[in-house]
Amino acid sequence: MTGWLAIAGLGPGDEALITPEVTAVLAQATDVIGYVPYVARIAPRDGLSRHPSDNRVELMRARHALELAAAGGRVVVVSSGDPGVFAMAAAVLEAIESAPEYLATDIRILPGITAMLAAAARLGAPLGHDFCAINLSDNLKPWELVEHRLRLAARAGFAMAFYNPRSRSRPHQFGRALDVLREECGGARLISFARAVSTAEETLETVTLAEATPEMADMRTMVIVGNADTRRVGRFVYTPRTSL
Ligand code: SAH
Repeated sequence: MTGWLAIAGLGPGDEALITPEVTAVLAQATDVIGYVPYVARIAPRDGLSRHPSDNRVELMRARHALELAAAGGRVVVVSSGDPGVFAMAAAVLEAIESAPEYLATDIRILPGITAMLAAAARLGAPLGHDFCAINLSDNLKPWELVEHRLRLAARAGFAMAFYNPRSRSRPHQFGRALDVLREECGGARLISFARAVSTAEETLETVTLAEATPEMADMRTMVIVGNADTRRVGRFVYTPRTSL
């Protein structure tokens, strides 16, 4: 049996936002590997082994997936959203870098709808002009670097999308990020909090930076800060495509 490995994105939550390509590989899989809540999204069936693991073991999980595929398994590593955005695709390639024999394995990376784009669509078009995406977690980089990038992105006039804004293990950093943004952008700038987008618990809230508090975000929230031209039209938030 020839094994293969697919690294797939499950989208932000709603089944309807999983691509047909990902649904097709999941139907052929013998093994599904990923963080506990993502593997839980895959229905059990005969012939499918599910391998849930903890969040902080990405490299071990990647090696496990490569071993199963090399042994003939049809393996799908699942991430939420897109697998290339702060997720498993880079972890698998990092594992291959230190074990290049796995380059002989049939490996595909299948895109998904990332949380940033799902959130932006719900809000309107806050990313309608140039933007950047920043992971606010300092698990894999120093906090000083997060702050440095925040400042420079704000000064460059980008709209900004923030993943992993706040967690129980680092409750104070998002407050610090808001202070930096207020210093660089002023209090009138719009900031949106899109939580659990495309699930039954979805909430959307847009306020000014002056009104924003750290409690408005948690680990299921995508935070989007507009550029200087970002504005409201009815219930929508949008960033014009022109910048003069
Ligand atoms: N690979 C994922 C991102 C993983 S990082 C993707 O492409 O979407 C996890 C972060 O994504 C969360 O802390 C949160 O900021 C964001 N996120 C994931 N799903 C979300 C959803 N349904 N609604 C809002 N934010 C979400």
